[in-house]
Amino acid sequence: MHFTERIERELAKLKAQNLQRTLRCVEKVSGTEIVVAGKTLLNFSSNDYLGLASHPALQEAAVRAMCDFGFGATASRLICGTTSEHLQLEEELAVAKQAEAALFFSTGYAASSGVLSILMEHGDVILLDKLAHASLVDGARQSKATLRIFRHNDLNQLEEQLQWARKKFPCGEILIVTESIFSMDGDLAPLREIAELKERYGALLFLDESHAIGIRGKPQRRMGGLAGELGLSNRIDFQMGTLGKAVGAAGGYLAGSRQLIDYLLHRARSFIFSTAQPPAVAAAARTGLAIINSNEGEILNEQLWKNISLFQAAMKQLPQAESAILPLFLGEEKNSLTAAEQLLERGFYVPAIRYPTVARGHARLRITISAAHTEHTIKSFVMSLNLARLFLQSMLPT
Ligand SMILES: *Cc1c(COP(=O)(O)O)cnc(C)c1O
Repeated sequence: MHFTERIERELAKLKAQNLQRTLRCVEKVSGTEIVVAGKTLLNFSSNDYLGLASHPALQEAAVRAMCDFGFGATASRLICGTTSEHLQLEEELAVAKQAEAALFFSTGYAASSGVLSILMEHGDVILLDKLAHASLVDGARQSKATLRIFRHNDLNQLEEQLQWARKKFPCGEILIVTESIFSMDGDLAPLREIAELKERYGALLFLDESHAIGIRGKPQRRMGGLAGELGLSNRIDFQMGTLGKAVGAAGGYLAGSRQLIDYLLHRARSFIFSTAQPPAVAAAARTGLAIINSNEGEILNEQLWKNISLFQAAMKQLPQAESAILPLFLGEEKNSLTAAEQLLERGFYVPAIRYPTVARGHARLRITISAAHTEHTIKSFVMSLNLARLFLQSMLPT
């Protein structure tokens, strides 16, 4: 079969399964309002939980850095792409994560996949939560270590696998990999219990805090994420996250021991063989971080949790959410597409999340709440959501 025919067939198959994807062009952004195809929509899909992506201070920081350095970083970090903005960001990240050092990668994806692919070796074992992000899966798969998947947040199965790994690979390292807040479900990992297990079995722990930094954590130290909130930071061997979500900028990081960071400089291919993020991005990320640590950040965090409660109360949803991600499970791929279309017509933007982002038949609307949403916006969104749900129910065979 010709390549083009093969592709055509594959695309037709995806469409028949309601798994087609398209890129929607956002023509303008102002806070939680976006313009798509000339229509102003209220956005309930972004990861800009604190509204920092539109904060003037981040833009000003980026402009200042551009005046000093130009725009592009011009080379990889190890050639001439490391500026004072990159290094200061790394120092500030290390402090925020209560780690000795941190390394700034071009994306969170590059940080997870680049680090996990080289951390463990042949004769070691990686134990990965079933719902872990694709970047963690890809890194673990590239590793020469043996990979086992445990059921989502299942401490019993995790312990069984730890026992198995200790017996089968008595001289090997064992690495547990999980997220603190799961990206598509918004639930928390039982982090304290996982930390205890890893110590009992002499294992290591890699934690992805992409959706927790800026949201969880101790007051004015919300970059610490869930590990910081529970006082566990110094028990997490590898702390990873992104600067593209609540921080409002872009890029990813890995925080850990100084020796580890030195090792990554020599081995992490996604770091070595990739152009550095522009200095302006590092400057914006530093400002996002500073705001999160400030009194203003604390006010934004309070507003975020207030908005989450408001949404939940209006939806009559219990128990209290643990993050800013509130999925509405719709099962069938087609249902999620219909609901998303209905909401779009009413002026709300929430895309349908389907396979392969989540398992087949587990489609959902991934609703995210931001500190930048207004009370009025949230209330009218809930009204439209309920109408979309009624519509879906009316479509069900009786
Ligand atoms: C978004 C995300 C990443 C990747 O971060 P980017 O900076 O967007 O590449 C990694 N892990 C999780 C859990 C994420 O949600």
